[in-house]
Amino acid sequence: MQKTDLFSLTEQQLNAFIDAEGLPAYRARQIIKWIYEKHACSIEEITEFSKDLRRSLSEKAYISCLELADQQISIDGTRKFLFKLQDGETIESVLIPDEERLTLCISSQVGCAMSCGFCVTGSIGIKRDLLAYEICGQVIGASRIIHPQKITNIVLMGMGEPLANFENVVEALWRITGLMQFSPRRITLSTSGIVPKIAALAQSAPMVNLAISLNATTDQVRDMIMPVNRTYPLKALLDACRRFPLPPRRRITFEYVMLKGVNDSDADAARLIKLLRGIPSKINLIPFNEFEGAKYRRPDDARVQEFQEMLSSAGMTAIVRKSKGQDILAACGQLKAKYSDRERG
Ligand code: SAH
Ligand code: SF4
Repeated sequence: MQKTDLFSLTEQQLNAFIDAEGLPAYRARQIIKWIYEKHACSIEEITEFSKDLRRSLSEKAYISCLELADQQISIDGTRKFLFKLQDGETIESVLIPDEERLTLCISSQVGCAMSCGFCVTGSIGIKRDLLAYEICGQVIGASRIIHPQKITNIVLMGMGEPLANFENVVEALWRITGLMQFSPRRITLSTSGIVPKIAALAQSAPMVNLAISLNATTDQVRDMIMPVNRTYPLKALLDACRRFPLPPRRRITFEYVMLKGVNDSDADAARLIKLLRGIPSKINLIPFNEFEGAKYRRPDDARVQEFQEMLSSAGMTAIVRKSKGQDILAACGQLKAKYSDRERG
């Protein structure tokens, strides 16, 4: 008989499993506390249960955990974890220390189907969606490694397009906020702009922060660097942002990867200011992280600064995001786990 992975179950499914085992309902609550708050990775670790109960439960069930296959530490303290999933696929999560914050950047898919031209993850194509527990599992896996330190912020900015794996991401967000009791205010989901799913997210998920990978100020350029724009062009994307029910004092983050000679002109800065008018926003300028075979270049620092100053002097909040972990290929757009680029036709 195949054993049941308790971590893979939703709260409802776990309740049903416990009930079917003839155990009282509070056992399910205890299991949830041990998995999601105490980060137990096996039934054996649930020391609150008697040895007999642990033994009988272990005959039918187990608690999976992501296997740490590799770990790299950058000179700036950023750590990249390579996690192996139960079917042997691998994903990366990145832990970024920044002053008093400890941010975990998690993946939502194995690879990504969106094919953005400036992103290494896009170059491997999509292997599969992550299941909800594999998304939460990165938080638990990383928490176990860094114990007693605690993750303070979570960003869905690793491998994959979160809104292309909507159901699993929403379920994971409920578990992270509900079962792990992580504040939704400390979670940010970044999307390349799958427009219908932006409204759906506000409707069905906890109110996490929204980030949009904007990266261009004209449809012509965005069509070229982000194929998703051909389906959901700038106007539709920004309309969805305008309609997004932001809680008071919150803003949408717009990420803008700066590509030399492609999207870094004065005219781009002027258009960006216009495009975002009326949207409570902040802009993260990310100078392109170069990688082998990349067709784009990073603008020089002076250009990045001029661009930022144009935005700031128009009253916008724009910061230049220092990419951390570049020496271990852990920076934005550099995650590819153990996969090599797919053949490009
Ligand atoms: N798929 C989602 C979540 C991944 S976030 C999304 O695209 O929003 C990855 C972020 O890194 C995105 O904002 C993307 O624009 C940025 N990025 C991708 N490749 C990059 C590169 N080579 N240099 C700098 N930033 C990059
Ligand atoms: Fe996918 Fe985001 Fe990379 Fe685009 S930038 S290929 S959506 S991970």
